[in-house]
Amino acid sequence: MKKITGIGVSAGIACGPIYRYENQPVVIDPLRGFRHKTAADPQAELARLEASLATAKTELEAVLEAAMQRVGAKEAEIFSAHALMLEDPELLDQVAAAIQEKHLSAEEAWFEGTEHYANLLAGMGDEYLSARSADVRDVAQRVLRILTGRKQKSTQLEHPAVVVAEDLTPSDTVTFDPAKVLAFCTAKGGPTSHVAILSKALGIPAITGMGSWLAELQDGLVAIVDGSAGVMVVAPDEKTRAEYQSLSASFQEKFAIALASAHQPAITLDGRRVEVVANVAAVSGASRALEFGAEGIGLLRTEFLFLDRETEPTEEEQAEYYRAVLEVFGKNPVVIRTLDIGGDKPAPYLKMAAELNPFLGVRGTRLALVHPKVFQNQLRALLRAGLGHNLKIMCPMVGSLQEVRAIHEHVNQARLALEESGVEYAHDVEIGIMIEIPSAAVMADVLAPEVDFFSIGTNDLSQYTLAADRTNPDVSPLADALDPSVLRLISMVTRAAHAHGKWVGLCGELAGDPLAAPVLLGIGIDEFSMNPRAVPLVKQALRRFSTDQARQIAEKVLQLPTVADVRRYLENFA
Ligand code: PEP
Ligand code: MG
Repeated sequence: MKKITGIGVSAGIACGPIYRYENQPVVIDPLRGFRHKTAADPQAELARLEASLATAKTELEAVLEAAMQRVGAKEAEIFSAHALMLEDPELLDQVAAAIQEKHLSAEEAWFEGTEHYANLLAGMGDEYLSARSADVRDVAQRVLRILTGRKQKSTQLEHPAVVVAEDLTPSDTVTFDPAKVLAFCTAKGGPTSHVAILSKALGIPAITGMGSWLAELQDGLVAIVDGSAGVMVVAPDEKTRAEYQSLSASFQEKFAIALASAHQPAITLDGRRVEVVANVAAVSGASRALEFGAEGIGLLRTEFLFLDRETEPTEEEQAEYYRAVLEVFGKNPVVIRTLDIGGDKPAPYLKMAAELNPFLGVRGTRLALVHPKVFQNQLRALLRAGLGHNLKIMCPMVGSLQEVRAIHEHVNQARLALEESGVEYAHDVEIGIMIEIPSAAVMADVLAPEVDFFSIGTNDLSQYTLAADRTNPDVSPLADALDPSVLRLISMVTRAAHAHGKWVGLCGELAGDPLAAPVLLGIGIDEFSMNPRAVPLVKQALRRFSTDQARQIAEKVLQLPTVADVRRYLENFA
């Protein structure tokens, strides 16, 4: 029996035989090149390339179709992007020139052109761009496979299995039949890799970042995968297997029970209603959130509309997108966050200098303030879209009162511009800020009078408080939001807000952890916002406590010295 740990990126427990998915690239060693490095007839090579690109396009259309059915339109967009890459004029010109001028074979020229592009992205030292370079290589490999006449790798599973791979591309992930994939486990990848995003959308347990020795695993060995804890147990003994089986059965049973009442409100034993809403990044996610019982949206991550494109979305395009999300929830509250670009999420058209510590750099509201036109466009689009809905605007990564005041100036300027141009807009939109920088948490009593609400972003608040990069698998476990230091900050922020009559939400991953429900309830969090699949379980957890009980639990927890003590104590109520 062997235990491998990684990053749990999609919750759930699975047990079954391992299926080693070998996705060795067509070209492993770029120095060795192809057998036919050069070709005598450039015209024939161009024709081969053209035919292969056309076949690749047909294949991608089939993948797109499968992805639309299995994971939804937003997640399938990546394959439209892949298809577009096949038509990229700059890339195609470069490849054609290499064939005509250097007499390279179609394989060599295509490989050279796409590698150049992928290396550019990977060399920027940034997790997000590295992930995009994987997309370029994914498309490149598809065309190379066709050019070299190789058969498509098999994603056809004969029986349900735990799929283990060095890394999984988006097209690998969705071409597996989800009914047969028990879990996805990859050696590489982090919490923001596509396999993580797609697995969550499919509801399949997944672990990434498991490290090099995944390669030692044999086909057919039985493994247990705990996607919540990020643990894989290989060749478990009978006792462990039985433990996980009962854990899995109770997980599913509990989820089914919770789902049955997910559309009822979360009311504590003493009658206090707690708002439970969802974090989403797309219109399809909003509809899914509604199905899982979310009462609104507590965090719409708008930056996904701004990434993966060459130009900024126009005011009109943004307004339409925000309206589509707002319409899913009718009159229910929808908190839309202004761009949180920077950190691990750059946008190519915003000129951003390379930073040694991007998470401590020009990110979120700091970036919005140095790109006032972009910020104004977004604010105008939001105010227009909010008409007739219950929109609240929230700004990320705010660290000081000066920034709060600058935000208000911008909002007023956007209102004035709409007024002057006679465009109708929402007049009663609440303006709030995220509390995710420790300085904002410490100064919450000063910031509270000047905003309508706070929403605590524990993902960042933990990484900044504990100085542990949330994207680095070696230290990210230290950035535990249940650490007493973080809980004390959450408590301080909540008290400060309530003293000024303001409401407090919490939209970090902590809100979706049922273990944390009583302590957050006791601290006085008014709105819990989470990954849609967590809504049924958290609602259920909240219903089990009275306000007084929860307050006593919170008082006790806030006195505990370590995160281990906190977890141990909270387990008593789970
Ligand atoms: C957070 O930091 O807790 C948060 C919700 O924002 P993001 O995860 O998008 O940085
Ligand atoms: Mg954040």
